[in-house]
Amino acid sequence: MPASATTETKSSEWLDCSSASTELDVRLVEIRRVSTEEQARDDRAGLARQAHSNRETAKRVGATIIEPAFELTDVCRENFISTPEWRGIRDLILASDVHIVVDDPDRFVADYGGIEILGECQRTSTLIHHPGGVLDPSSLDGQLVGVIRAVLAGNELKTIKRRVQGAKEAKRREGIFPSASISLPTGIAYVRTKGERRGRWTYNDAVARVRVVWRLVAEEGLTNWREVGSRAGFSGVTVRNLLKNPIYKGWWIVSQKRQAGPTPIRPDGRRKDRRKVPRAPHEVIRVQVFRPRGESGEPGDDRDEALVDDETWDRVQGLLEAKRQGVHRLRDQNSEARFLYRGLLWCAACDRAVYGCTKPRHGRGKVRRDWYACSLSRVRGKKCSTKYLRLEVVNTGVDRLFSTILSDERFAMGLMEAGADAKQEDVVAAIRTATTNVRRLTDQRTKLLDLYLAGTWKHAELDAKRLKMEAERDHAEREVSRLQKLQASAKQASRVEGFREILVALREFEFWSPVEKRDFLRRFFPRVYLSKRGVESVEVQLPSPLFGVDAVTGGEGPATLKVGMTWEQLQPLAKLTEFGLPEKPLYTRSEVAKALGLTEHQFVDRVRKGEIPEATQKHWGHKAWSLQDVRTILRERAERQATYRWGLPRKTSYTTGDITSALGITWGQLRYAMAHGRLPEPRRDAQGRRFWTEAEVELMATFFRVDPATEAAGGEAPETH
Ligand SMILES: [Zn+2]
Repeated sequence: MPASATTETKSSEWLDCSSASTELDVRLVEIRRVSTEEQARDDRAGLARQAHSNRETAKRVGATIIEPAFELTDVCRENFISTPEWRGIRDLILASDVHIVVDDPDRFVADYGGIEILGECQRTSTLIHHPGGVLDPSSLDGQLVGVIRAVLAGNELKTIKRRVQGAKEAKRREGIFPSASISLPTGIAYVRTKGERRGRWTYNDAVARVRVVWRLVAEEGLTNWREVGSRAGFSGVTVRNLLKNPIYKGWWIVSQKRQAGPTPIRPDGRRKDRRKVPRAPHEVIRVQVFRPRGESGEPGDDRDEALVDDETWDRVQGLLEAKRQGVHRLRDQNSEARFLYRGLLWCAACDRAVYGCTKPRHGRGKVRRDWYACSLSRVRGKKCSTKYLRLEVVNTGVDRLFSTILSDERFAMGLMEAGADAKQEDVVAAIRTATTNVRRLTDQRTKLLDLYLAGTWKHAELDAKRLKMEAERDHAEREVSRLQKLQASAKQASRVEGFREILVALREFEFWSPVEKRDFLRRFFPRVYLSKRGVESVEVQLPSPLFGVDAVTGGEGPATLKVGMTWEQLQPLAKLTEFGLPEKPLYTRSEVAKALGLTEHQFVDRVRKGEIPEATQKHWGHKAWSLQDVRTILRERAERQATYRWGLPRKTSYTTGDITSALGITWGQLRYAMAHGRLPEPRRDAQGRRFWTEAEVELMATFFRVDPATEAAGGEAPETH
């Protein structure tokens, strides 16, 4: 064995071949706990006591203590095993004859990473000696440690997040702006000074333009936001938002928060921002961060002065409200009622809001038509496959989805469970496999180091093996985290009960007013995702109090229900008219012909002869007959029925042309039948033209199997009176 190995480590292999050092076979790493209080009091008494106790323990077990001892403070407990201190200790305990000695094992484990420490000791077969005896982590059930470790790791992440959020929230309540300055209102700045906890609320250059807005509105009385905007360099919408923001009268009011639940994922797999939702009244934060305008604050009040005084602010809010009401009244009368589902519709293709809009029909001057449009398709130069959707199609489709399809409980529950169950099963198993993999690879890596330290391998060999193994482990770790995400989505299954409650309410959907429908959907189905094809999915916001969400599953966020129904499937089944066609305002030529039992050719012919009135309407550029038109045509025909025979006005005699067109036969067929004596030759006039009596036509109709009764039933409306 090379001499260098003796100075680096004392592995058992080395000890085996060195009989001279058997009495040195156990060595202890001494860990002393330094609490921050003790440091503050500069009281080393505690440390001296620990050192004494550890030496007693070492003497008892016949071991020596490795100098110097490790003194650990109790401030960095989070993720302790990745700290340099722990890595220093681990380098030593990798050797199989090196163990740990502490004064109080429970506090040691609890203070420094808990189960993580036990896991580390278990992997390196390290015992923890203490005054009361010895703790052997490898005697713990291995799997148990693994499982607990995973649970703790997950919980610690959550704890950190919660702490960060909690800290931000505490700062907000103190009037400290905790976020990046990009999220400040226009014209407002928050200046942080290094070393000081509290920053200063003040203004930036953009405030000059904000002043212009307030002057134009409050002093010059302008109420056209777009005009105000163009004079101050903002859009009309920004102007309205500026005027509503209480920061300009000095108050910072936090009335929204990010929605709880898992981070939403875009269709392309990227994360997106959680939606902002209103805070409950007790959660709203109000801090007066600017001194009220026109008041000379208290001595020591160094806050900047607010931009506008309360009186101006209140007056402008009155203007905003009056304007909103005015616009609202107008909307109520027309568009609000028409754009029934505005604000609830989203584009499934690009994940943007779908708006209601009215635009002139292509090339048709003053005729305007209502549409729902994806907001991306309204941006110049951008394209989205959803584009424009017909208002009526969407309104009736969405209406039907909620009133009949989703309210069919069995159908909707099926959708919900199909999405959740399938995943749950294999994910749990896959996570178990992947976690075991990570553990196995970590263990192998440790053994590898052991072998290297024992001098079995050269450095280069070790590096190659180690790199390969680390790559494998990284891969396995990524797999675990991917699967855990999947599992979260599978937790939807546990929300099924809450969903059932909503479905029960939906049964009455069709009896609700538009306002009630919208309010209900906004609460429980905040987003309906549309595409050119139909309704793709629906976001379900489950009412948490109904089914008691537990914190571990984190199941409070919205769930997504895959619907995948086309607009066609969603159109309500139209009522049938008495003439056998679906009821609708306009009918095409072929539809009217069908109702009359005529071929299109026969139909055109009769229109030309004036027997059927010409179309009075147009539909998409084609002639069309209204429902009333069709009824009139059928009634008139029914009235004429008495004087008609085979679709012909009754006459004393019929020409060859009358008969062939009425019976739908050719002159050739007729002549053939007469030539073979099947039908009698009729009388002729002076010019040799044939004329048939009604009885002869009757015979002919029978011969060619044209039953007058059948013809009447097929061609005319059944008599209802
Ligand atoms: Zn789109």
